[in-house]
Amino acid sequence: MKLDTVRLVVDLKSLSRGMNRGVFTIPLDRIEWNIEDVEPEESMGTLELEVDFEDIAVQCSGRLDAHFCTPCARCLEPSSFDICADIHRSYTWSPDPASEEQREVIPQSGELDILDAVREAVMLSIPCKPLCSPDCAGICYN
Ligand SMILES: [Zn+2]
Repeated sequence: MKLDTVRLVVDLKSLSRGMNRGVFTIPLDRIEWNIEDVEPEESMGTLELEVDFEDIAVQCSGRLDAHFCTPCARCLEPSSFDICADIHRSYTWSPDPASEEQREVIPQSGELDILDAVREAVMLSIPCKPLCSPDCAGICYN
């Protein structure tokens, strides 16, 4: 399985029928995350992917092992969080309007864009009250 590790695009032509598995080191600092107030803490992360290539659909699932930062809710210093959400996305050549499942259409180029799915996993992992440390005292104005 070939993955463009900056654009996070899987090349469909590199997949075999059935289950494809891969582990990729991805340059977190070169990916366009575009998530407000969120930055990768380290330059590299590990992306584990499983892509099931079947006749009518391609199912993609995976896990990103990485640390990101978002401002602490009390002092605004960067606070680190891990990615705890899994990646799931389905793709198809011709969507069935009757199907309950949301599937993305596979483009002519044969490129499966998984950036959105990975971005979603990052967004779902953002803590609702991020703290730089459990006993953060907040901004001191004295
Ligand atoms: Zn803090």
